[in-house]
Amino acid sequence: MSVEVTYELAGRMTRKTYKSYSRATTSMRKWFEKNDGRAIIYRFNTEPEVIQTLCQLPANTQSETNFYQTRAWRALRLKVLRESGGLCTYCGSGTQHGSVLHVDHIKPRSKYPHLALDITNLQVLCEDCNLGKMDNEILCSG
Ligand SMILES: [Zn+2]
Repeated sequence: MSVEVTYELAGRMTRKTYKSYSRATTSMRKWFEKNDGRAIIYRFNTEPEVIQTLCQLPANTQSETNFYQTRAWRALRLKVLRESGGLCTYCGSGTQHGSVLHVDHIKPRSKYPHLALDITNLQVLCEDCNLGKMDNEILCSG
């Protein structure tokens, strides 16, 4: 089932056709990384979907799962946790206080995929602080 996407940038429209929805979203992800415009997805028998930011693109669940299972990520995550002393960067709460710690991407992976494995882009947050951060960024946290 082919998918048509109209890209709008500074009043100019470009229409492209893709062989599948996942190909369309992959291309749109690349486009949004470079352009500050919007895109409209047209699918047969479906209401057009207007996408204004990268965050609105449906997540590629396949690669999400794979990323957190990679050896590189796991090793880096452990290193960050060890160096933090097991304490939350924001509130200083740690596992000894019963907090669950997460390793968080400061700049979200959805927008800055090249920083996904950059140790300077990682911080340790307790569950509460991490959830608070997600609220502020409206599901755009990586
Ligand atoms: Zn915290």
